[in-house]
Amino acid sequence: MVALDGPSGTGKTTVARKLAERLSAGYLDTGAMYRVVTLAVLRAGADPADAAAVTAIARQAVFTIGTSPGRPAVALAGQDVAAEIRGPEVSHAVSPVSAVPEVRELLVARQRRIIDDVLDEVGGIVVEGRDIGTVVAPDSRLKVFLTASAEVRASRRGAQDSAAGRQVTHADTLAAVNRRDRLDSGRAASPLRAAEDAVHLDTSELDIDQVLVALVELAGR
Ligand code: C5P
Repeated sequence: MVALDGPSGTGKTTVARKLAERLSAGYLDTGAMYRVVTLAVLRAGADPADAAAVTAIARQAVFTIGTSPGRPAVALAGQDVAAEIRGPEVSHAVSPVSAVPEVRELLVARQRRIIDDVLDEVGGIVVEGRDIGTVVAPDSRLKVFLTASAEVRASRRGAQDSAAGRQVTHADTLAAVNRRDRLDSGRAASPLRAAEDAVHLDTSELDIDQVLVALVELAGR
């Protein structure tokens, strides 16, 4: 099992999927799970900062997360929401939702079940998130913490936004990236941080293929 942690805009999702394909392993995007719960909160018209309401919605939400690296499906109440969970509304509301300890408890338990199932069926899995090496699977064979400068991460996020047809200025994207980092790193429950035994990889100057080469090399050690 490979644990890939780090903030957004480091190329984590793209390389995690490519690495899983290369290793013929399964893939789990834990961020998608926090995002789908956030979408359920928004659809219910609840305040993402209302921990009790968020917990109740998280417990009732019926959602599925695919583990195929080729096309990981995400459904809420039977409906495909893979694109919607990447939108600005969910991105803005996801940090307060993921700061709720009961939500983390629920999702971490589910993540561990998915990991066990995929390891039984496929034999390997690449899991990406913020707390995989520290909380979800501290016994991972390989832990990598991806970083990149805030400027580079904002540029990558901006490119993804325009590819998805969303028009956002660079200044707004940079502010949103910095805000989410601050909230994810500053929360009390499982803050974003590297495991002590994680390999740090700065992707600021690397393209996706170069990051992939580095990860394949680390996985093969
Ligand atoms: O990786 P992604 O940007 O999709 O993650 C969305 C949000 O979900 C993060 O900003 C963070 O608040 C939360 N998250 C988390 N723990 C994880 C994965 C994501 O708290 N393991």
